[in-house]
Formats: sequence, C-alpha cells, structure tokens
Amino acid sequence: MKACACCNTEKPLELFYKEPRGLMGVKRLCIECFNKQRREATRLRSPEQKTQASAKSAARRAAMSSEALAARRLYLDNWRRKNSANVETYRRRAKNGLYNTKDRTEYTKAWVQQNREKVLARSRHWQKRNPDKVVLYVQLRDAQKRRALAQWDIELTKLVTLEAAALCRLRAKALGGKWHVDHVVPLRGKIVSGLHVWNNLQVLPAKVNISKGNKFCEAIA
Ligand SMILES: [Zn+2]
Repeated sequence: MKACACCNTEKPLELFYKEPRGLMGVKRLCIECFNKQRREATRLRSPEQKTQASAKSAARRAAMSSEALAARRLYLDNWRRKNSANVETYRRRAKNGLYNTKDRTEYTKAWVQQNREKVLARSRHWQKRNPDKVVLYVQLRDAQKRRALAQWDIELTKLVTLEAAALCRLRAKALGGKWHVDHVVPLRGKIVSGLHVWNNLQVLPAKVNISKGNKFCEAIA
C-alpha cells in the first residue's frame, strides 16, 4: 500500500505505474491521478507550447539519417499492417485521451521480457553515466527493504546521498582507494539501529566500512 501524493488515498501498489527509481518502485501519483494530470497538461498546453512540440519533432525528423527514416517508415508500415484491426480503436482513444492502461502495461511487460538484452544494456549505459544516482537508489532501496528509511526530509536525504557519492569519487581520485557512503549509526546495529536519513550519513574508506560491519563505534564516526 502507498498513499498517492495527489488524492492522498492509500492504494495497493498495482494501482501505481512502475517507476524503478521511485520509492517502493512506483510513481508518486496513482494511475488515475497520473493520467488525469497528463491529460490536463496536454489539454492546457499554450499555442506556443504546441508549436514548440511540433517544431521539436520536426527537428528530430530532420536530424534523422535516410536509413533511420527508412527503418522508421518500414516499422510503421509493418505496425499498421499488424494492427489494422485495432487502428480505429487506437485513433478513437487518442482522440478522447483514453488509454487502456492495462493493455499498455501488459505490452510494456512483454516488450521488456523480449528485449532483456536491450534493457540491460540501456541500464548499464545509464549506470555508467550516473554513478552517484546508482549509489542513491541502491541506498534508498536497501533502506526501504530494512524498513529504515526516514519518512521526513526525504528530498534532503536524497540530495545528501548524491553529494556523499560525489565526495566518494572525489576522494578516490585525490587520495586513492575506494570510499563508501556509510551510516554513522548502522541500519541494523547490534545495540541500536539507525535510519537512512541525511544526518546519519558519512563517507568512509571502504576498508574501514567493511571492517566496521554493523558496529556502532564513535571513534570512527
Ligand atoms: Zn491518486
């Protein structure tokens, strides 16, 4: 269960769109609210925004190589042939702003399953470019799993984790060795258990962090 950030109703996780980077792996808004906001945003676009959007897609098309364009045309032709029976439905849905979210979720799931390699490669590529965010999300997920994620100041905790991860890289470069983002009071200590919260974070050499285990030891902190 999770409370939707818009309608404030507690709903089961299936009623939220998946978001690997989100808390509990889902978006902040429930599907209903999310779609409502999306439709509103599209409807309320100013004429300039509409022109901007179409200019953007025109620019994207113009930047495509002839092979890419040909591949796109082929893909679209194939798609139309395969989905000819449904095209009318799709058109009506697009016009009314209605989407069968269940179908879409199923479709995405199937696509991910069939394109596992592609998804993994994309994710690896993203991880390489965003090392600090990787630390951030691993920490968040881990804290969530251990039920040690402080519910207050979450945005600040995220920011401090990102900064700490950047500091780890900086120190590794300047001083050598590996550095970890660590908790002053460990999340699962023998005597006390700490929380994943901004003022319980520190940057430690990996060696110290590993030898420290889950001991709470003020000499190190
Ligand atoms: Zn909602």
